[in-house]
Amino acid sequence: MHKFTDDDAGYLRWIGNHPDGFVLNIERGERPDYAVLHRATCSSISRVREDGAYTARNYKKVVSDSLADIRAYTKSMGRKDRDFSKLCGHCQPL
Ligand SMILES: [Zn+2]
Repeated sequence: MHKFTDDDAGYLRWIGNHPDGFVLNIERGERPDYAVLHRATCSSISRVREDGAYTARNYKKVVSDSLADIRAYTKSMGRKDRDFSKLCGHCQPL
């Protein structure tokens, strides 16, 4: 599992190398109310955009090949149900 903050280049490299991976989009402050799950291939979180669009502004990304790791992370944020606030409607990760 990796966490990307202020590193869009590293993030985009990771998802490019892990097409079967998962991406958790969270706020900078890791508010448990916001934890959105995507597939690494989702167009809404993988297109190259201006610097900082993914990890340097209000959001950061937690990535893993293991869904269990991602669920454990949401628990560490305070989500007791190990679940997500939302599943992306584009990539339908589960
Ligand atoms: Zn998605």
